[in-house]
Amino acid sequence: MNGETSRPPALGFSSDNIAGASPEVAHALVKHSTGQAGPYGTDELTAQVQRKFSEIFERDVEVLLVPTGTAANGLCLSAMTPPWGNIYCHPASHINNDECGAPEFFSNGAKLMTIDGPSAKLDITRLRERTREKLGDVHTTQPACVSITQATEVGSIYTLDEIAAIGEVCKSASLGFHMDGSRFANALVSLDCSAAEMTWKAGVDALSFGATKNGVLAAEAIVLFNPSLATEMRYRRKRAGHLFSKMRFLSAQIDAYLTDDLWLRNARKANDAAQRLAQGLTGLSGVEVLGGTEANILFCRLDPAVIDALLKAGFVFYHDRWGPNIVRFVTSFATTAEDVDHLLSHVRRVVRSVHA
Ligand SMILES: *Cc1c(COP(=O)(O)O)cnc(C)c1O
Repeated sequence: MNGETSRPPALGFSSDNIAGASPEVAHALVKHSTGQAGPYGTDELTAQVQRKFSEIFERDVEVLLVPTGTAANGLCLSAMTPPWGNIYCHPASHINNDECGAPEFFSNGAKLMTIDGPSAKLDITRLRERTREKLGDVHTTQPACVSITQATEVGSIYTLDEIAAIGEVCKSASLGFHMDGSRFANALVSLDCSAAEMTWKAGVDALSFGATKNGVLAAEAIVLFNPSLATEMRYRRKRAGHLFSKMRFLSAQIDAYLTDDLWLRNARKANDAAQRLAQGLTGLSGVEVLGGTEANILFCRLDPAVIDALLKAGFVFYHDRWGPNIVRFVTSFATTAEDVDHLLSHVRRVVRSVHA
């Protein structure tokens, strides 16, 4: 089943959440929409999702499904942080910029402490120093947990060694370790490692396992490797209003997403599309691809006349947010080679006329 009909080339490269859902996921929703099922996650499908995650991560894990990544992040962080705690994260992180204070809200006022570093990855030496400052000082909020994003907000990826080094910092200072895996699958197929290696084997306690950006309608999974967080998390999810009474519909999406490696196949498609775009842009005069395209996000510098012409042609993307003439293109599981080639043919044409 691929369910794809021929369509005009898609013009949107602004984010991976402008894509729809995989047909397998949509079909699963319809399939599970009849008959009775236990409420609030007591159904068989939800149990099956839990088993599938335990297989994927090669150990018992506790799984709680929620509708958004913001809920997953806020709930994970709140379970590892007292109100007087510090959550260490990168200044570019989603939890710092794009969640309207949800981590602070869910944790009853914990403090986000930003640690900078290149490519939206936090600097480990600086992290180690900062998590040792003012310990036990009653006037100062205290280190509680570290949150990293994999793949990061700019599409870069922490290596396994880097994750393990952060895990070491957390372990030695008794801090929780959270991973925002909104683009977990994109990172995993790029690193070509196991899900276990990228998480608990490197010390991660709690994962926000993203699915919405990579082929489901609306569902994300909180995956807990530290079983001591599980009981509290169940109460926290309900209290936050995120325990679905018809849980089967979240589970149906995630079940289909994990079946026959759909999540990995979708992520490969997204990453391959970004690679195709990077290759096509490289070497064009007046175009500079910035950084290595490791997942499904590409940054480049374009002539302002090229940016204008692409916008006029109807292409949708963000530009000049990260610096003058800097453009971000994001691909998704639904981006085809034809979509990419169509964009490239426009870029080539405009570049030729601008630089004629
Ligand atoms: C999209 C995204 C999320 C989740 O966002 P929601 O809109 O709350 O689902 C979390 N982290 C990162 C890095 C993201 O890009």
